Amino acid sequence: MFNQTFSADTQFRKASAEYNFGFLDEYAKKEVRRSVLKAIAIPGYQVPYSSREMPMGRGFGTGGLQLTLSLIGKKDTLKVIDQGSDDSVNAVNLRSFIEMTCPGIDTTTKVSEATLIQSRHRIPERELREDQILVLQVPYPDALVVVEPSEDKRKIMHGEADYSRLLVKLYEDIVKFNEITISHRYPTRINGHYVIDPSPIPRWDVPKLNNSKSLILLGAGREKKIYAVPPYTLAEPLEFDDIPFRVESFNDSTGKRRTCWRCGCDHSFLDEFIDAQTGDKRYQCSDSDYCDEQIKSQVNNQELEG
Ligand SMILES: [Zn+2]
Repeated sequence: MFNQTFSADTQFRKASAEYNFGFLDEYAKKEVRRSVLKAIAIPGYQVPYSSREMPMGRGFGTGGLQLTLSLIGKKDTLKVIDQGSDDSVNAVNLRSFIEMTCPGIDTTTKVSEATLIQSRHRIPERELREDQILVLQVPYPDALVVVEPSEDKRKIMHGEADYSRLLVKLYEDIVKFNEITISHRYPTRINGHYVIDPSPIPRWDVPKLNNSKSLILLGAGREKKIYAVPPYTLAEPLEFDDIPFRVESFNDSTGKRRTCWRCGCDHSFLDEFIDAQTGDKRYQCSDSDYCDEQIKSQVNNQELEG
């Protein structure tokens, strides 16, 4: 038994030693970096690139992964989150793959320690800094895909900043439901021109794109597109003068703001789940690092007071 484990471990080490740093070959990384530069130069524009095959299925964050692997260096500290959590299967798999193929890098679960953050479906609650880069995994990069199936036509519409059909779609929502019902992937205009699909982040996170201190990069592996919201850039969710954009409300039926059952936070994005024992609904910060941080600061305050 011991011998078997030993030999599997040796094989693993041998295999990881044979990988190029960052798994991708230098030419592939160079191409991604060039696309990133172009994406920063034309905020919100979807830059096509030759997305490489990765040893995992497309749709599992291969676009974000290729961005991370092309940008990461030995001095970087990486955080990987999925829906705000560092511990979900997708985040754990991506993190261990990056650790295996990028020897020498550090990983963390703390937003404040990270230089590079790869995320699926959330932007951290804590405001990001200028020295940090956020990489978002994107399933569908084009906000116009819901109103126009032809990519050729969509390109022309983007070029002309013609988003009238998208606005009609939002208007139809208001007629039918009395409000805009889009919960994720809220179309957002960048730098006054291109409208992007900001990936399946909740509406709660959309205002964080605006005037962000950190560079935000979005990568769609299957659709082979990279785009960016550069630092200090205008990002405006589409809205109407009389129906403004609004984020999710976490008020209960009496109008009181719900709080996290763990840390008591009343200003974070909450996940709802059912308590297995009592069957009651419970609410918890979606950003697990932020939740831990709140608990820690409460303990510190109590110690100071005591
Ligand atoms: Zn919490």
